[in-house]
Amino acid sequence: MTAQELPNGFTGFANRKPGFEPASASVGHTPVGGYTTGGGAALAGVPAGYERGAQGAFQYARDHARPDAGAASFDPDKLRLIPDTDRRWAWTEVDLNALRHNVASLKRHVGPGVRVMAVVKADGYGHGAVRCAKTALNSGAEYLGVATVNEAIELREALVNAPILVLSQPPDEAIPLLLAYKVMPSVYTPDFAIRYAEAADAFGIRAPYHLAVNTGMNRIGVRHDQVVEFLSQVSFHRALDLVGTFTHFATADAPETLDFHIQTKRFLEAIQGMRVAGVDPGIIHAANSAAAIRYPDVHFDMVRPGIALYGLHPCPETRTMIELKPVMSVHARVTDARLVPMSEGVSYGMNYRSPGSVKICTIPVGYADGLRRGLSGRTDFIVSGQRFRQVGNICMDQCMFEVDMRIYGTRRRVDPQIGDEVVLVGRQGDSVVTLDDMANTLGTIHYELSIGFAQRMPRVYV
Ligand SMILES: *Cc1c(COP(=O)(O)O)cnc(C)c1O
Repeated sequence: MTAQELPNGFTGFANRKPGFEPASASVGHTPVGGYTTGGGAALAGVPAGYERGAQGAFQYARDHARPDAGAASFDPDKLRLIPDTDRRWAWTEVDLNALRHNVASLKRHVGPGVRVMAVVKADGYGHGAVRCAKTALNSGAEYLGVATVNEAIELREALVNAPILVLSQPPDEAIPLLLAYKVMPSVYTPDFAIRYAEAADAFGIRAPYHLAVNTGMNRIGVRHDQVVEFLSQVSFHRALDLVGTFTHFATADAPETLDFHIQTKRFLEAIQGMRVAGVDPGIIHAANSAAAIRYPDVHFDMVRPGIALYGLHPCPETRTMIELKPVMSVHARVTDARLVPMSEGVSYGMNYRSPGSVKICTIPVGYADGLRRGLSGRTDFIVSGQRFRQVGNICMDQCMFEVDMRIYGTRRRVDPQIGDEVVLVGRQGDSVVTLDDMANTLGTIHYELSIGFAQRMPRVYV
């Protein structure tokens, strides 16, 4: 076979004249990203654009969706209207009603007089920070907590105007952003406090902040027994405005409670010390979801639930204490399906071999979408209300599951077809797969998994 006869129409470089330059190719396109198709001279009788070597190929130009002379033109507005879920059969569903329910449950649980700060860091634990923040605020939350300055700015640019606290101390260089977007930092170094105050003073405004107190987690904060000393170092600055004082628990979700009580005691002593020194601690807050649900003593003026907003229990102990509804579910559609003969392998490594009489179905979800590779062969998907085992190694963008095609007694046989819906996380009929199940299998926590599922999949709010 000569190069001209290659079955896919690719002629290869061997066939090109010496001195061939892609830029002078006869089809008149601009090579982009190293594409050099269509290098052959136009053949007599062949319509323009179908020269040898260009056969079946797109003609690449810089502006992909723009009308090109003589080429098909597409209406960019119509293209945009094709929903993400029709571009790829995989999506997460975010049930904002469930979020409303969870905020209301938490509010009822903590009672009147205790504010709720909705923690929407990490894009709302993968649920979408802006929509979740707005929904939480409409359901009774009054404050927002984020991890980074950019997360706060995203909320402001989406016209969220509730108070926002960054739950750590940002770099000094970010101070103008804090002031411009009216975002409060957590503060624990005198240097930052002074720089922040001076910058605010230069604009003739106040520098509101929350003081972070380290009561034992040893992550951030002024040590509980050095709070008064810290305040004396910065209190001369008139612009500084202490709006709140908080700590964070390391073990509020643990069965063992000794460390939790030590942290609580230290926090109370620090607050007491501030009062004795004549400093108003402002809004006092400490409780994450686990503490807010388990320990009424540490509600103080405000609680800071994150995970519970999204309907996930921070620990087994809270299951009987509050009713939460999961907000996220994960969905896909079957993209391919085939009967695989006995002993044939499936996926990379072929660790799974067909036992015979099985249909292997493919969905377009992989570890790049948060379906962790460690779940290979260890999680179930739901189709038509029945559970099916994921089999073979989970690939980056796809994975497979197994459907037993044998007939047993009265069991209704499910025979998935291309396009059928698959639930990876959530409920369908009587079957449920939870993020908790997956986290337990992996030896991690569901926080990590909900965030993972936001990596690439489109999100649908319902
Ligand atoms: C993340 C975070 C929270 C929320 O914790 P959950 O366990 O998700 O409720 C509260 N406070 C601080 C300081 C945090 O970093």
